[in-house]
Amino acid sequence: PELKHCDRPLCSVSARGLIDSVDAFLFDCDGVIWKGDELIQGVPQSLQLLRDMGKKLIFVTNNSTKSRKQYAKKFLELGVDVTESEIFSSSFAAAMFLKLNKYPCDRKVYVIGEEGILEELEEAGFSCLGGPEDGKKNIVLKSNFRFDHDNNVGAVVVGLDQYINYYKLQYATLCIRENPGCLFIATNRDAVGHLTDLQEWPGAGCMVAAICGSTQKEPIVVGKPSTFMMDFLIERFQISTSRMCMVGDRLDTDILFGQNAGCKTLLVLSGVTSLSALHDPANNIHPDYYTSTISDILELSKL
Ligand code: PLP
Ligand code: CA
Repeated sequence: PELKHCDRPLCSVSARGLIDSVDAFLFDCDGVIWKGDELIQGVPQSLQLLRDMGKKLIFVTNNSTKSRKQYAKKFLELGVDVTESEIFSSSFAAAMFLKLNKYPCDRKVYVIGEEGILEELEEAGFSCLGGPEDGKKNIVLKSNFRFDHDNNVGAVVVGLDQYINYYKLQYATLCIRENPGCLFIATNRDAVGHLTDLQEWPGAGCMVAAICGSTQKEPIVVGKPSTFMMDFLIERFQISTSRMCMVGDRLDTDILFGQNAGCKTLLVLSGVTSLSALHDPANNIHPDYYTSTISDILELSKL
């Protein structure tokens, strides 16, 4: 019988089997396609060969700082042929969550996050408060000071925000605590991210945790590993998850995301997960296969 989820290194037989058994590859971006702003070696050629075989390629990133349009520009600048319709960012997922849940356009959304979230929310027809603009605002705490917030905010979206400050924390906290039924949405909860290629930096999980702390509420997460994004992809592309392979570098977002949906999973070691972390007895998330980079899928299949 076929063994399930057992961390096998990808080999020539399994690479051919994997290619034959799937119609779509879902690629995580950071750590798989690029690292920060550096393209990972062999990526454009590998993606083109998979396209030539008729595979559907879908790119799923938890990094909410950019919109799909901004990611399409990044792909183009890196020399990778990807269209906006193939890109699914957690910023877009936040906008789609509100749209699919019929969030009224006459209510506002408060954003702790960067340009990508604002762009996607505005493109979906929502009006936003917060974002980079509020990064310039200071508050001076003194007696009789009352912080006012808009009672018409019915949703707070929290993602990575390099310009987070006490003003934004208070604004989001008041909306969630005082506006009846206000939604608390997290784009993702990644602990750290590659904001630069040399180092990891605090990720959106850090901003989300701040708001969990002040509100004592848990967010609705729309990025990986939540099933929201996967359900959306299945609906849009009409592909069965048993014919999909999720390729990622992070166990607790990418591999879990794929496994929760019943996709095949491939861990690449070109990002944040080392072989020793994969084999650590404390790790309980096991991909079907692992390999060094996505180029191996085709290189191995030719052996
Ligand atoms: N969030 C931020 C802010 C990041 O910088 C990164 C990676 O650089 C991520 C999330 C994870 O992105 P991905 O899902 O493409 O690995
Ligand atoms: Ca990644």
